[in-house]
Amino acid sequence: MREIIHIQIGQAGNNIGSKFWEVISDEHGITPQGCYHGDSDLQLDRINVYYNEAHGNKFVPRAVLVDLEPGTIDSVRSAPFGQLFRPDNFVFGRAGAGNNWAKGHYTEGAELCDTVLDIIRKEAEGCDCLQGFQVVHSIGGGTGSGMGTLLLGKIREEYPDRIISTFSIIPSPKVSDTVVEPYNATMSVHHLVENTDETYIIDNEALYDICYRTLKLSTPTYADLNHLISATMSGITTCIRFQDN
Ligand code: GDP
Repeated sequence: MREIIHIQIGQAGNNIGSKFWEVISDEHGITPQGCYHGDSDLQLDRINVYYNEAHGNKFVPRAVLVDLEPGTIDSVRSAPFGQLFRPDNFVFGRAGAGNNWAKGHYTEGAELCDTVLDIIRKEAEGCDCLQGFQVVHSIGGGTGSGMGTLLLGKIREEYPDRIISTFSIIPSPKVSDTVVEPYNATMSVHHLVENTDETYIIDNEALYDICYRTLKLSTPTYADLNHLISATMSGITTCIRFQDN
């Protein structure tokens, strides 16, 4: 099998990543408890690309969930699909990055990086034929942006011949008015160019406009934007998740 290791990092990364798992679990007939309740063999044909099979026919996402503060990870854990994830694969700090790229890349994030790499290594060792990694993060904050790019560099160093792809959220003043976001994004783009094979740019401004103009939502929320993003991610990954018949 050609397995993929999924890494979600920071607030946006964890919000969107967990939505992605909800959507694909539904498509593959996997319940929040990890059991298969589908109706077609097609759903299980390539299930190993994203899920590990555990004892008792349980399917566990090959996902690593990272943040520098516990808040978002706690809400992922307490959501309906929270129990689907492997408890050992939650990694979080206490201090947070406070939208500071350098804290994610050089200090708080750098301290947590080895713990994350240990988990990634363990997942990689359990794979039959690892095809690569996918990272979900925003590049406007501190954790997904600073620590996310640090992690990408380390993964590239350790697995130079595996594919690395990212789903990267680009900041917009229409969605968030933190003034440092364009700077954080600019610093991250350089690392994305250097260390990834493919980056899917997800523009919060375009998503906001779709919600506002097309869907006529007067005040689009992150949940609205994330609904569009998870549908897109599911579409992009369909051809690697399902057998072509
Ligand atoms: P981090 O936790 O330090 O990585 O920081 P964030 O992920 O909160 O990064 C801030 C950027 O991400 C801003 O541009 C926000 O608009 C965006 N963002 C935060 N949460 C979400 C979310 O759930 N969905 C979307 N689409 N964008 C988000």
